[in-house]
Amino acid sequence: YQAKRVRGRACTYAGPRDGNSVERLRLLGDLGRALDRGELFVRYQPQVDPRTGVVVGAEALVRWWHPDLGAVAPDRFIPLAEQSGLVEGVTAVVLDQALADVGRWRAEGHRLTVSVNLSARLLTDHDLPTLVADGLRRHRVDASAVVLEITETGIVSDPARARLVVRRLRALGCAVAVDDYGTGHCSLTYLTDLEVDELKIDRSFVTGMTRDRARAVIVRSTIQMARELGLRVVAEGVADAGTQRVLAALGCHSAQGEHVGDPMTAGAVLGLLRAQGRPAAAVPSSRTGSD
Ligand code: C2E
Ligand code: MG
Ligand code: MG
Ligand code: MG
Repeated sequence: YQAKRVRGRACTYAGPRDGNSVERLRLLGDLGRALDRGELFVRYQPQVDPRTGVVVGAEALVRWWHPDLGAVAPDRFIPLAEQSGLVEGVTAVVLDQALADVGRWRAEGHRLTVSVNLSARLLTDHDLPTLVADGLRRHRVDASAVVLEITETGIVSDPARARLVVRRLRALGCAVAVDDYGTGHCSLTYLTDLEVDELKIDRSFVTGMTRDRARAVIVRSTIQMARELGLRVVAEGVADAGTQRVLAALGCHSAQGEHVGDPMTAGAVLGLLRAQGRPAAAVPSSRTGSD
């Protein structure tokens, strides 16, 4: 499987979106075997400091190469995995790979973080902090290298338990990010109830913000709010140089999107890091909103 420019979700199996169709059931049946057969793998989308272009992080994004269907997009199989209880297995695979890869990057002196998506269901799973702690130990990776991305769906289902899990993950030394910020229904509530380190502004606000006043206002005020709350702020969906420049001026800590780089192999990330030359000394200090 070659990492085609992955906007080529055009060449990704994406249907069907409805009901319990035959195809859905087939995917569900195949997913269990996919885990055993190693059909899942990870690509990384780089994140840069928008001012300097220095790579400060990479988000791990799971991929499934189905023997008959080819690439199946995570938006299609993650929901199935959540319903069927396979999502723990998927997360374990992604986390293990991400820790191995960030360990290799850091071994060369590059101080970037790796971000791993946690499904809503896992956020109320008391075993999750143990899974993370075991992985850190096994790969000898410092917890400060890891960002765990959560969405509000998991928080809403059982807020008290989610709060406890978040607290335990942070106690390990990992950072916690709220993903797809702005698309939920009680987004502002988390910021007071949950102690998180990072906000990721959803790409629906970021892409095209230089041509749309409403988006620009939302992004600007979100960055300002995040900074005043002492959170790091990441913009997703940065698709052109102009957007990156505006984000830099607004004090956004990190930019991710097709302008910065499409999802790529761990080796390609290392290539980017090496091309930067010196180990990334310009990494902004994490957990503080200030520079
Ligand atoms: P996400 O966590 O919000 O990840 C960002 C998604 O937006 C990725 O899609 C990425 O390729 C895409 N993206 C980023 N910048 C741009 C851009 O400028 N333009 C366009 N068109 N797309 C951009 P991907 O890899 O298809 O993942 C989709 C979603 O699937 C993720 O959204 C995340 O919610 C979920 N996902 C991916 N990997 C995992 C995983 O390991 N575990 C879990 N639980 N969910 C995952
Ligand atoms: Mg994410
Ligand atoms: Mg996101
Ligand atoms: Mg998103």
